[in-house]
Amino acid sequence: MLRNDVGIFTEKGGTIGFLLHKSGIVVVDSQFPEQSQHLITELKKKSEQPFKLLINTHHHGDHSSGNISFKGIVEHVLAHENSKKNQEVSAKAQKTEDKQLYPDQTYTDTWCEKAGKENICLYYYGAGHTNGDSFIHFEHANIVHCGDLVFNRRHPYVDRGAGANMKSWIQVLDKAINKFDKKTIYVFGHSGTGYEITGNTDDLEKFRDYIGNTLKFTESEIKAGKSKDDILKATSIPGSEEWKGDGIQRPLGAAYDELTAK
Ligand SMILES: [Zn+2]
Ligand SMILES: [Zn+2]
Repeated sequence: MLRNDVGIFTEKGGTIGFLLHKSGIVVVDSQFPEQSQHLITELKKKSEQPFKLLINTHHHGDHSSGNISFKGIVEHVLAHENSKKNQEVSAKAQKTEDKQLYPDQTYTDTWCEKAGKENICLYYYGAGHTNGDSFIHFEHANIVHCGDLVFNRRHPYVDRGAGANMKSWIQVLDKAINKFDKKTIYVFGHSGTGYEITGNTDDLEKFRDYIGNTLKFTESEIKAGKSKDDILKATSIPGSEEWKGDGIQRPLGAAYDELTAK
C-alpha cells in the first residue's frame, strides 16, 4: 500500500496500481495473464468487494495482456480511445485477438469518476510513449500512475509505430508537472536496476530532461555528419548519465527517425 487505499503490485511487466474501496476494486494495468491471476488472488485476500474498473494506461502487452484474467469479473475496462485502437491493431497483427479483453469505455481528453471519498481522473496530454497514454490520478490519495510516460532511470521504448513522439512527450510531462503538486506520489511503468517504481516531481523533471537531452544529442550528432549506425553506438546521453543499462538504441533510434522524418 502506498497511501490511503491505493497500492501497487509488480511481478513482471509494467507496474500495476490498485484502489481498494467499499464500492469496488479499481485496477490500473494488468501485466501478463499469469501475473494478473496472481494479482486477483492477492486482492481477493485484501477485499471482498467486486472488481469495478480496470484501467489501461496504454495498450502495450506488458500492461494489457493480463486484462483477459478479468473477463467476466470486472464491470468495465477503460482506456484512452487511441489505446483501444492500438490494442486492436496490434492484436490483429500478432493474431492474439482471442486473448484480449478490450476497453468497453474510452475517453478523449479527461475522464473523472467518484469512488466514495476517492475521485479518479484520467488525463490525456498528447503523444508521448505512444499516442494513447493516460495519467491516472487518485485525487484524495494524491497518487498518479504514469504508466510508461515515465521510465525511472531506464531507457524507454518509444513506439513510433503507435504514434509516439519525443518532442510532444516533453510537453506531456510539463503538463503533468504543472497539473499535479509537490506532494504527489508518482507510480512509474518501469525503473532501472536499483531505482524505485515510485517517485516525485523531481523524477518527472529528470525524465523530461532526459528526453530533451536525447533529442539534443542526436540532433548535434546528425549535424556533425554522423550516420544513424554511428549515433546508436553511444553508451550514454550527455546530461542524463543516470540512465544506464541496455536499450539506449531505442530512444536514440527514435530520436533519429523523428528528427530526420520528412
Ligand atoms: Zn511497459
Ligand atoms: Zn509501453
